Amino acid sequence: MTHETAPSTPPPHDAAPQTDDLVLRDASVCWHPYTQHALEPHALPVASAKGAWLELTDGRRIFDGISSWWATLHGHGNEHLIGALQTQLTRLDHVLFGGATHEPAVRLAERLIEHAPAGLTRVFYSDNGSTAIEVALKMVLQRWVHLDQPERRVIVALDSAYHGDTFGAMSVGDPDPFFQAFAPFLFEVRRVPPTEDAMVAALEDLGSRAAGVILEPLLQGAAGMLVQSEAYVRAVRAACDQHGIPLIADEVMTGFGRTGAMFACDRAGIAPDLLCLAKGLTGGMFPMSATLATESFFEAFLAQDKSRAFFHGHTFTAHPGGCAVGLASLDLLLQDDVPARLEAIGGRIRAGIAHLSDHPKVRDLRGIGGIAAIELEPESGSGGYLAGQAPRLRAAAIERGVLLRPLGNVLYAMPPACTTDEEADRVAAVMVELVDV
Ligand SMILES: *Cc1c(COP(=O)(O)O)cnc(C)c1O
Repeated sequence: MTHETAPSTPPPHDAAPQTDDLVLRDASVCWHPYTQHALEPHALPVASAKGAWLELTDGRRIFDGISSWWATLHGHGNEHLIGALQTQLTRLDHVLFGGATHEPAVRLAERLIEHAPAGLTRVFYSDNGSTAIEVALKMVLQRWVHLDQPERRVIVALDSAYHGDTFGAMSVGDPDPFFQAFAPFLFEVRRVPPTEDAMVAALEDLGSRAAGVILEPLLQGAAGMLVQSEAYVRAVRAACDQHGIPLIADEVMTGFGRTGAMFACDRAGIAPDLLCLAKGLTGGMFPMSATLATESFFEAFLAQDKSRAFFHGHTFTAHPGGCAVGLASLDLLLQDDVPARLEAIGGRIRAGIAHLSDHPKVRDLRGIGGIAAIELEPESGSGGYLAGQAPRLRAAAIERGVLLRPLGNVLYAMPPACTTDEEADRVAAVMVELVDV
């Protein structure tokens, strides 16, 4: 016989490849987010994950100290979430959301509305945090056109704000340090420091050009875990009310318990006009986001005129699997009181690093809810995201079995809710060691 017979089964994919093999293959074909490949050619090869732990292809176990970019809420590989996803995909994998609907989308919308700050009664789904922001910005700008005030085109945003990487989200984000190359293409935004006076002055100065305000309430994440007071968030709400302009709350990161309350807006005692949710929406298991709006926002798009519809939508809008996981995650969050657990974990880590407050290399200690941060004295220049010490600190953390990704000279932890007290203490101990690395 000269011809070969095709094997009846495909080659097995479950055999863990050699570490170096995966890392090198990755280095030759993948392009990673927020990664300077010339300086960081090698990615961590992750084979599996359970709870707060990542297992690498070489057998090393690494504690996920930042919830895989602030998304993993309960822990990795949660059976309840996986079960919900499997059951849903078997029943209905996907269907367009233009002119069609399904139980998980409706149910998740009902439950989000039930638990969101008062007055938010409409849910627009998309796929990620950046698109949740795009949707909110487009709703704000199109609504002013419908209300015959098209001159209201300027959004007010904070210094150092980060709202995502698409063009609208980049525009409201601070161009420094990430987006300088795109600065000529970004729309006009009034940027203010996080003080009540600056916000009021900006709105007064803009007058009838002001379109809205966007805020990461209580915590500016990517800026370096900058904490704003509840009073400040309330003052921004009051200023928006006084000028009759909408407030967009970007709770992509702070939502679902990260600040110790269900939403940061709850903790501050305010309700926004638009609320952007992503990361924790599915417990970090499925790419999915939502923009919640008030009924009056929704009504501004109602007319016997197709051209007044909201012209936005993605292929995978309201993906049934994502909605099912979102529902399962919300159940777990309420059942296990995740906001309280995150507050306890964050409190424990903050207590474990508190004695660093007079350490000569430490500029500030801060945090809220499940987040604990150390701002280090920058080694050169003025610090910020591009400060040189981050890659070294990250490597030193991995050597100690913890995944941390410092934002420049800001070292922080934000582990998932399944973190035990002992694990929280270990994270704090590693952070303390890193200060002297
Ligand atoms: C992560 C983040 C975003 C962007 O979300 P993506 O899913 O990464 O697009 C927007 N706003 C805030 C506050 C974030 O932390």
